[in-house]
Amino acid sequence: MGSGPQRTGERYFGLHTKGTGKARISLSEEFLTYSLKVTPCNRKYPHDWASCLCGHKGERATRRDLRTHNYLPIACEYAKQRLECPRGDDCPHSHNLFEYWLHPKRFRTEMCLFRSNCDRRVCFFAHSSEELRQLQDGLPPAELCWRLQRGVLTA
Ligand SMILES: [Zn+2]
Ligand SMILES: [Zn+2]
Ligand SMILES: [Zn+2]
Repeated sequence: MGSGPQRTGERYFGLHTKGTGKARISLSEEFLTYSLKVTPCNRKYPHDWASCLCGHKGERATRRDLRTHNYLPIACEYAKQRLECPRGDDCPHSHNLFEYWLHPKRFRTEMCLFRSNCDRRVCFFAHSSEELRQLQDGLPPAELCWRLQRGVLTA
């Protein structure tokens, strides 16, 4: 039905609802910000992209590697309107929620509404004041269309 593989990453990671009833997986900040949905998947057989931590060609959650692509956690004007960006991989702005919120400059810069009750498998937000990070380089607060509503991403 309906939404197809491109949205399943978001569903799996519980971005639209409070968790998915699955236990939180423990991943380092380094892995979350630099590798999750970045590393190209090398599985040769069909599998559920959503539950795979790698990126896949054509998957909407796939992120460009920050070590080879220089983009900021600012929403691309085209991506916000769900249009194809003419700058493609050279665009200096984020093309999806994963690029935006997992960027080291925006990751965990807002508190998670669910705090310690959060059971998202992967959560972009902070669960304690120790986890909370400062937005760097005078970046703008979360974009209107990609912002949080009651702690749930609404894009
Ligand atoms: Zn995979
Ligand atoms: Zn763009
Ligand atoms: Zn959370």
